[in-house]
Order: sequence, then structure tokens, then C-alpha cells
Amino acid sequence: MLDFKNIISHCKEYGFIYQSSEIYDGLAAVYDYGPNGVELKNNIKQYWWKSMVQMHDNIVGIDAAIFMHPKTWKASGHVDAFNDPLVDNKDSKKRYRADQLVEGYAEKIEAKIKKDVDKARKRFGDSFDEEQFRTTNGRIIERQAKIDEAITLLGTHLKNGDMAGLKQLIEDLEIACPDSGSRNWTEVRQFNLMFSTQLGNIAGEEEKLYLRPETAQGIFVNFLNVQKTTRQKLPFGIAQIGKAFRNEIVARQFIFRMREFEQMEMQYFIKPGTEMEVYNHWKNKRLDWHKALGVPAESLRFHDHDNLAHYANAAVDIEFEFPFGFRELEGIHSRTDFDLSSHQELSGKKLQFFDPESNENYVPYVVETSIGCDRMFLAQVSLALQEETVPDADGKESTRIVMKLNPAIAPVKCAVLPLLKNREELVKAAQDVTAKLKPHMNIQYDEKDAIGRRYRRQDAIGTPYCVTIDFDTLEDNTVTIRDRDSLKQHRVKIDDVAKIVGEKVDMASIL
Ligand code: ATP
Repeated sequence: MLDFKNIISHCKEYGFIYQSSEIYDGLAAVYDYGPNGVELKNNIKQYWWKSMVQMHDNIVGIDAAIFMHPKTWKASGHVDAFNDPLVDNKDSKKRYRADQLVEGYAEKIEAKIKKDVDKARKRFGDSFDEEQFRTTNGRIIERQAKIDEAITLLGTHLKNGDMAGLKQLIEDLEIACPDSGSRNWTEVRQFNLMFSTQLGNIAGEEEKLYLRPETAQGIFVNFLNVQKTTRQKLPFGIAQIGKAFRNEIVARQFIFRMREFEQMEMQYFIKPGTEMEVYNHWKNKRLDWHKALGVPAESLRFHDHDNLAHYANAAVDIEFEFPFGFRELEGIHSRTDFDLSSHQELSGKKLQFFDPESNENYVPYVVETSIGCDRMFLAQVSLALQEETVPDADGKESTRIVMKLNPAIAPVKCAVLPLLKNREELVKAAQDVTAKLKPHMNIQYDEKDAIGRRYRRQDAIGTPYCVTIDFDTLEDNTVTIRDRDSLKQHRVKIDDVAKIVGEKVDMASIL
């Protein structure tokens, strides 16, 4: 994995991600996807859509509008409760999320614990028992108690909306501003994360619209429409991919925390009482989805929520080890009947399912899986991007930057390269091969620079295969296929290239 700064600059240099409105010095926490970025992002979405919707008989998709009736957000609780606690440092004038300051405090202590654990592991070797060490070592017990106390108090204050308590906690823990080093904090205030705008030209509360902060509500309000038109019985799911907007207080981690982002969400409607079984099922299924793409098990972990959102009775994050540490990549939430019941109440329309088995009507319970497409993009790029030493053409060693993406999601599946650009017959043959392959997959034709440099360019964007047209091609209609990871080259017939490469990049292999 490269360091975070290099990942960001690589994303720009190779056309994956640009800062939005860069010529005007950018817009904070808003990004645009470039030509390679949009291909990778589309492939991630396709992988999700295929595995969640098309691979399940009882999950269907929708594409709801971003604007929704303002009452939606009243019912969902977002108008009253979609807040983050905000605090400013009076000296640096920097703004922070109060809860993240406390979490940062806990993370620092956790890092110290980890250091001690690593040291002990080295000292004791194979006989080391981490669990035993953590529960008996005096210094660790003391540090763990500090973490537990801070996190418990944080949870209590958040639950009670006690902003004064939160301020006191920051003071008691002696948390200083990372920028100024001072502990000169303002009061902690609640800040609603929804962006608002207005419908038509009449200003006022009635016409106030919100840009949706999650895609889920478009699914809830369509629950009966979809159930009736598809004649689904419980359990069944509705999936959606779409934009969501949050006026994040702190957004300093590239596409990890954006103000406009994309979510891939699935709401699974179930019989009340079955939620824990279904929740565990989706927890494991979603973890497997990440692993199938090649994410190593040690880069993923579950993190149970200590503080449940207002709608949930169980919640877990799938965390990924980003370059800045383990952070939430996906959430799996047992949302009870909170949303459907609230919409039923506020709209006065029944949102129930008639269960022919038990002969009764009820509001279904919901288990949700929710993943940020952009975070998945960042996870994949940061995992795949590597610097390594490889033998070059004349047998010497050289370093290369390579993006070892799973071929199924790579932006370009195959590059077609004539050995020389000033030999018309090679160029013509390469263009013919390109035309043949184009209907099957995303192809890039490249004739500029020496062949070695062209290989490196394709490595840098994760192209799994390069087809080279040389003088033998003109004799016997064969080409070489170069494998991005092993660097091995095979000679194959032109007519077989689409099939050979097609099979290797086929998403079916990971579904
Ligand atoms: P966080 O705690 O990091 O703010 P969250 O718990 O608010 O995230 P959810 O409301 O559960 O996030 O949203 C589901 C998913 O949407 C998250 O797992 C994440 O992948 C993605 N997501 C949420 N907020 C953002 C954001 N500002 N930018 C990019 N992706 C986001």
C-alpha cells in the first residue's frame, strides 16, 4: 500500500479523481471522477448490483428521485436527529466533531496498547497469548479502563443530547486541538447535516426540500408499490444505488468523507422476530462479498456499534484498514419497523404486509446493508496500488507502480499496443485487433512511447492484460498477451484473444 498522499496524487495523475471545480480552487469535500475513475466506479456498482439484485430472486432494484416530500425527513427522524456535535477551537479557528475528538483520544491510547502487545508478541514468540496479556498486564488494564470510560460517557452524552456534558468530557480528558495545541474550546453545538433548498419560488418551511442524506427512504416510501407490482412475499429486498448528500462538519480525508457521495443500499423486509437471524446472515454475506473481490481477511473487521442510531436495535460496521487506519466501509443495521411505522403514521397510509401463512397484517421489520460506493473505491485503490521491483526488458531491476485491482473491476480490461508506431502495417494490425475486441470489453489502444513505458502506464491504471502486435503477428496472426501481475507473456491466435481475456475478466467468477 502506498501512503495516503501518494494515493491521492496517483488518482489525479492517472485520471481517476479530480477535485471538483479545481480551476476555482476546488469545493471542499466534493470530487469528480475522471475517465478511469468512472469506469472503476461503474464496475464496483455493477459488482454490487449483480450480486445483490440479479443473483437473488427475491431482491429487486429501484431508482428513486433525490428530492422527496419534506415530510419524509420528519418521519425518518432526520429533521430532528440527524445531527453531529460541533466544536470550534478558539485559537486555531478549526472546527471539529466533538465525538471524533473523544474517539481520537481513545484511538491514541489504543495505539499505545497495540505497541505493548506487539512488543510482548516479539518477546514471547509462539507461546504468546494476546487475550491473557491484555487481561493481566497492569498498564494495559489501566489504559483500557480509560478508553472504556471515555467511550461510555460519550455514548451517554450523545444519547441524551447533552452538549454541555460533551464539552465537559473534552475538558476532563484534556483533549487539545491537533492544530494549535490549545484547549480553548467553544461550547459544543448540534449541527444538522442535511442540505436544504426550496421548491418553486415560494420560500418558507412548507416548501423546504432536502437533498436526501441517505437513499434508504426512497425505498421505504415505495415499499408497497414494489411489493404489489412484483408480487413479492416476505422476506424480500429492495436495492438502490444513488447519490446522497451530507453537510459534513469535518471532511479532510479525500473521498472517504464527502459532502456529495454515492450509496449502495438494500433494505430487506422481514417478519418481525426473525431480525437477528437475518441480520447475522447479511453480516456474513456482505463480508464474503468483499473477500470474493480479493480483499484479505486481515484488512477487514466487524465493529459492533456501541451507540445505536435512533432507528436500530442492532448495528455493525464492516471496517476496512484504510491508509489512515480501520474505518467504516459498510454498515449493516437492524432497523426494526421504525421507518415504515413512522411513514405510516405521518402519511396516514397503511404500509403493511398481509401474511397468508399467519393470516394477519403487520408492518415488516427491516435489515439494511449500506455501503458507500466512494469508500469502496478508495478501499480498492488503496489496497491495489503498490510499488514493487521487477525485472525490466534487459534483465535489470526496476521499480514500478502497479494497481493490482481484481480484473473484474479494472477500468481497462486489455490494452492493445503495436510494437512500433512508425510501421504502418503494425499499426493497422493493432487497430484491427482493437476493433475486434471493443464490443466485448473496455479496450485501450496505445501507440505512444517505447513499449516498456506503455506497459508501465497500463500497470499504473490496473489494466490486467496487454496485447502486443509485433512482426510475427504479420506472419502468423498471433499476438502476445502480457499478464499484469506475473509479467509472463503468452503467444496466442488473434481469434482467441477475446475468449481468453474475456474469461479472465469475467465478473461471473466472483459472483
Ligand atoms: P460515518 O460514521 O463514517 O460518518 P455513518 O455511520 O454516518 O458514517 P451511514 O449513515 O451508516 O454512515 O452510511 C452508510 C455508508 O455510507 C457508510 O458506511 C459509508 O460507506 C457511506 N458514507 C456515509 N457518509 C459518507 C460520506 N460523507 N462520504 C462518503 N461516504 C459516506
